[in-house]
Amino acid sequence: MGWEGAYPGGVIENLPPCPQCSSEYTYEMNNLVVCPECGHEWVPAADSGTGADEAGERVIKDAVGNVLSDGDTVTVVKALKVKGNPSGIKAGTKVRNIRLVDGVDGHDIDCRIDGFGAMQLKSSVVKKA
Ligand SMILES: [Zn+2]
Repeated sequence: MGWEGAYPGGVIENLPPCPQCSSEYTYEMNNLVVCPECGHEWVPAADSGTGADEAGERVIKDAVGNVLSDGDTVTVVKALKVKGNPSGIKAGTKVRNIRLVDGVDGHDIDCRIDGFGAMQLKSSVVKKA
């Protein structure tokens, strides 16, 4: 569309190269980093030093680093103890339709588990299915 060489924003800061095609001509737009070469868009890694804690822009990742979103189906990767339930949640239990929350004590997933009901889990104990 005739904008070759012109990148919005003017100053190209220290943005990471594109993880898809390694292009260095990435630029920032609406909190995303955009690659003009292949069209890939991604959320830049939170950079320490700004100190800004942007409310509502949290990225929640599973045990292996996949980014989770509302409505995802995940699998519990390790056995979890549940208060009042002798067997607890077994590793491999599928959890459908999770909701990301800002829970207490690092519990950032709100969900329902068959046989257990409403439950909050830590994203570090699940893997995107
Ligand atoms: Zn690219």
